[in-house]
Amino acid sequence: MNRVYNFSAGPSMLPLEVLKKAQDEMCEYPNSGMSVMEMSHRSKDYDDIIKGCEKLVRELMHVPDNYKVLFLQGGGSSQFTMIPMNLATKNKKIDIVITGQWAKKAAQEAKRYITVNEIASSADKTFSYIPKLDKSTFSKDADYFYICLNNTIYGTKFNQLPETGDIPLVADISSMIMSEELDVSKFGLLFAGAQKNLGPAGVTLVIVREDLVGNAMDITPTMFNYQIHVDNDSLYNTPPTYGIYVMKLVLEWIKEQGGVAAVQKNNEKKAEILYNFLDNSKLFKGTVVPEDRSLMNVPFVTGNEELDAKFVAEAKKAGFVNLKGHRSVGGMRASIYNAMPVEGVEKLVEFMKKFEAENL
Ligand SMILES: *Cc1c(COP(=O)(O)O)cnc(C)c1O
Repeated sequence: MNRVYNFSAGPSMLPLEVLKKAQDEMCEYPNSGMSVMEMSHRSKDYDDIIKGCEKLVRELMHVPDNYKVLFLQGGGSSQFTMIPMNLATKNKKIDIVITGQWAKKAAQEAKRYITVNEIASSADKTFSYIPKLDKSTFSKDADYFYICLNNTIYGTKFNQLPETGDIPLVADISSMIMSEELDVSKFGLLFAGAQKNLGPAGVTLVIVREDLVGNAMDITPTMFNYQIHVDNDSLYNTPPTYGIYVMKLVLEWIKEQGGVAAVQKNNEKKAEILYNFLDNSKLFKGTVVPEDRSLMNVPFVTGNEELDAKFVAEAKKAGFVNLKGHRSVGGMRASIYNAMPVEGVEKLVEFMKKFEAENL
């Protein structure tokens, strides 16, 4: 086996222990005589898996009892439609902060149905910072306030949440879920596609305060109605069964690491190693203002496109893959999600030092 250090923004690295456990149980899930992939989603064995997965989400994120945990399909992107259809039904109006492509897409979809009030944007500087928010500009009658908490493409993160008072705060946490502790009670709804920090693509985790469910617009397709999925414990139709199973293995792994707090410590260590190097390098530099830096996605450049391309190619040869930045930013991006070991970041920095010495 020759596994590389995979810095992909998503789908991304999974812990080797998880892959091995899945491999062990691939052909026969213990005492069931079949693979999880072959199981009825209504079977007792599968019920234990999906209930067990929900229990771990609740435990690891300290989800309060008045929140529902849903396992859906359609990716993070379907939530851009589901959220307004279900939550923006009173005044049909929301506030949003435009911090990059994912927030922009969320705004675009919401605009089909409701009024979208763009409070602030960091488009003027290629989304390299989180805009300072002025509370007096927030709508008093918004149905919710929407943010993308960690901006996967640009490497920014809200290190301070907007103070929205009684207006529910809704956050896309696709690329930072369970990477650090988060107070769920501060939010009306949280969602994440699994493929960055929780497992394989195909599952979308939604955590929603129960009083916000049950008022969907009449036009809402059944499959887009949270109430349907709440009433049926995410088993209205066939859920992404294997994805939920692997997610459960990932959550067990997080628990073994010591929970989200322990994983956070590790993530802070990795980010510090990389940012420290970038701050002192004569060749590479980070693209984000220091106070808004992400723990998970670290974009950087040399300032010379040819040299960037050379770096990405040589890094790949050395076993550090998927370091090419998003096409809208250029340069490089290292995504250092939960499953990336500290050693992977240390070795990357060693490699960058060597590249710097050879190319400066
Ligand atoms: C990847 C990503 C998405 C899109 O997720 P899909 O599952 O591909 O629809 C949305 N928001 C953020 C922040 C992401 O990183």
